[in-house]
Amino acid sequence: MMGTDVHLIPVETALDTILARVRQMGREKVDLLHALGRVLAEAVTSDRDHPPWNSSAMDGYAVREEDVRRASQQAPVDLVVVEEIGAGALPHKSVGSGQASRIMTGAPVPEGADAVIRVEDTRAQGERVLILQPVERGENFRPRGEDIQAGRVVLAQKTLIGAAEVGLLASVGRSHLLVYQRPRVAILATGNELADLGESLSANKIMNSNGYALAAQVIEAGGVPVLLGVAGDSPEALRDRLEQGLSSDLVLISGGVSVGAYDFVKEVLEQMGATLTFWKVAMKPGEPLAFGTLGTKLVFGLPGNPVSTMVTFEQFVRPSLRKMQGHTLLFRTVIEAVLKERLTKKPGKTHFVRVVVEKLEDRYEVWTTGNQSSGVLTSMVKADGLLVFPSGAARIEKGERVKVQLWEKKLSSQAEPGF
Ligand code: AMP
Ligand code: MG
Repeated sequence: MMGTDVHLIPVETALDTILARVRQMGREKVDLLHALGRVLAEAVTSDRDHPPWNSSAMDGYAVREEDVRRASQQAPVDLVVVEEIGAGALPHKSVGSGQASRIMTGAPVPEGADAVIRVEDTRAQGERVLILQPVERGENFRPRGEDIQAGRVVLAQKTLIGAAEVGLLASVGRSHLLVYQRPRVAILATGNELADLGESLSANKIMNSNGYALAAQVIEAGGVPVLLGVAGDSPEALRDRLEQGLSSDLVLISGGVSVGAYDFVKEVLEQMGATLTFWKVAMKPGEPLAFGTLGTKLVFGLPGNPVSTMVTFEQFVRPSLRKMQGHTLLFRTVIEAVLKERLTKKPGKTHFVRVVVEKLEDRYEVWTTGNQSSGVLTSMVKADGLLVFPSGAARIEKGERVKVQLWEKKLSSQAEPGF
C-alpha cells in the first residue's frame, strides 16, 4: 500500500539520490573496433611523433625558398633534380643551392629544403625542373609532430570513443585498450496477466512487452540485458526468478510497484538482503518507483504501464547505466523548440510528453504524438523525444518555447543532407 513511508519527491531529487549511489564499473581490455562507443578507461599516450618527419603535403618539389624567390612564368628558375622521394621512402640526398628533389605527398622532406612547391607550379625538363613561381618558407609541408607529439596524452581517460578516436588510436599503434565494462542488467517482468513471447495467449493474458522494451533500452544505453522472463505475483515466483539475476550489476523489475502488489517486491528483495526506498516521484507518466541496493547491485522497481516503464528508465536508469560506464555526458541532448499546440495540466508533477519533433531551417517545432495515456505504446513509437512540462506549470501556450529531450532516432533518417 502507498503508506506513510512513501514519499512524494521531485524528479531532480530522485535522480540526484540515484546517481549518488552509482558506482563505476571495472575495466576490461577490448580490441580497437570493439571499443567504438565505449569509454576509455586509461589515458593513451604516443611514443612517437606524428608525422614522424617533416612531411610533404603535396606532390611537387622540395626546394630552398631563397632559390625560387624571384621565380615567375616569364623568368622561371631552373633547378637540378637530385632524387625522387616517394611516400614510404627516405631521402638520401640533401637539397643544396640550385637543387630540388621530386617529392610525393607524405614523403619526408630532405635536409636543406625548407618548402615544397606544387607540381602544378613547375615544368619538368629531363633531369631539371623549371619553377614558375615563388613559395613561402614552410609552405606545403607538415612539420614533424604537427598532429601528435611523443610522450603526450593523445586521449584522456573517460574519452568516448568514436570514429575519429579509433583512427587516432590506430595511428599511435593501439590494437587493444582498456574501456569500462558494460553493466549486465537483469530484467524481470512481474504480473499474473503476463505471457512471454513464444507462449500462447489465453483470454486473460497480455504479452510481456516491458521486458523487451527495457532490454532494448539497456542495449541502447550500452548495457547487456539478461532477460529473467516473467514472474507471477507471488513472493515465491519473484524470489525464484530474482535469484537468477544475482550475478548482474543492476536489476530492473517492472510492475508490481503500484498500490497493492509492490509489497511482494519489497518483501522479497528485503529478504534477499536489499535496502530499498519506495518513492512516489512527482512525474507523469511514472510516479511509483522503488530504488535501492542489493549487495553492490542497484535495484529499480519500475511502474508496469509500458510507457511509464520506458519513461522512468529514460529519466533514471539510462543516466545510471551511462555513469557506470564512465560517460561524462549522462543525459540526452535537450533542445529548445516551438510548441505547435496548447498544453494544460495540474501543477505539482513534471510531465514528460511524447512529441514529434520537426527540424526547420531556423528552429525545431514540436507537437504531441496524440493519446498520452501511460498504456499507449503506439504514441511512444511516434515520438522523437520527450517534452518536459515543468512541475510548477499549468499551461504552455501554442507558440511558446519548450525544452525537449531529443532521441534523434528518426529525425536523422528523415533529415535533409547537411542537417
Ligand atoms: P502494475 O504496475 O503491475 O500495476 O501494472 C500496471 C499496468 O501495466 C497493468 O495494466 C499491467 O498489465 C501492465 N503491465 C505490467 N507489466 C507489464 C509488462 N511486462 N508488459 C506489458 N504490460 C505490463
Ligand atoms: Mg502488476
